Amino acid sequence: MDSIESFIRRLPKAELHLHLEGTIRPETVVELSRRHDKEPLTLEQAQAFYNFTDFTGFIMGFRSVTERLVTPEDYALVATRMMEQLAAQGVVHAEVYISVGVIYLWRNHAEGAVDPIFAALDKAREEASARLGLSLYWIFDAVRHFPPEQAERVFADAARLRKKYPSIVAIGLGGDERRTGSEPFRAMFADAASHGLKLTNHAGETTGPEAIREALSIGTERIGHALSAIRDFHLLSELKERQIPLELNPTSNIRTGQCANFAAHPLRQYFDAGLLVTLNSDDPAFFGSDLASEYLLAHQQQGFTRDELRTLASNSIKASFLPEAEQKHWLERIRSSM
Ligand SMILES: [Zn+2]
Repeated sequence: MDSIESFIRRLPKAELHLHLEGTIRPETVVELSRRHDKEPLTLEQAQAFYNFTDFTGFIMGFRSVTERLVTPEDYALVATRMMEQLAAQGVVHAEVYISVGVIYLWRNHAEGAVDPIFAALDKAREEASARLGLSLYWIFDAVRHFPPEQAERVFADAARLRKKYPSIVAIGLGGDERRTGSEPFRAMFADAASHGLKLTNHAGETTGPEAIREALSIGTERIGHALSAIRDFHLLSELKERQIPLELNPTSNIRTGQCANFAAHPLRQYFDAGLLVTLNSDDPAFFGSDLASEYLLAHQQQGFTRDELRTLASNSIKASFLPEAEQKHWLERIRSSM
């Protein structure tokens, strides 16, 4: 039998909770800084963005990196690098969050500001997809603690652009849950759904189980993090009954101080209870992890066997927004992967 690392590498798997901006490595930040900053950052200065000890520090570092994304070419560059990183881990499909609000900020909120950026992103996706053999969908992500009009605009742009770019499959809500829950977005979620967009939502990452209930109550179809569900037995039953897909991000939760260590993450308990859990890396460049290493840690820290890792991979395909025929193809490949 070969090593667990190469088994994981070969296992076809999907990454469903990944922020484009969170895949940008310090070296690329320096490259972007040379394009845009009067005094370009040194590698050391760029690396400082990735040193944080709590959730607030993480948000600040994330913002400093994202601020260096200005032109369509910048976005194309980081999308291509991200897809190369995914392919190297044996990821066959990814659904990636884009912080669309940042684009408005840079373009002084001009109408159609996102169009040239997204055109470049999707061209990069198409090129890398053909070259590397993985599929990728986009999720337009709004920042929940910004004014609600901005989320409205992000979701309206998703609905408008989706007509031309079917690779936009869903909308999401990220940002600081401690400041805003899900309720203010109820009508926006209903509207997005009426345009054929799927609904994802970060919930229960820095907040209690009631935030997850609130997210479900506005029609959320896939929950990001769901860390605090472990504290509510009835909620766990509901998540199981309805087989609500959960996008878990253990290393992210540890690095932002929400969870003590990998062994203490509820991944194992959710899995054993029959919940539809998936493993994800969230912001790999910031958390010093990637999807393959999350699988490896699940094996090392929580005793996931090869068969159980296969189930996690199958879950990631089932929880994806891929059409049924493609899901079937990958599920068969996972079953036969050795
Ligand atoms: Zn996230």
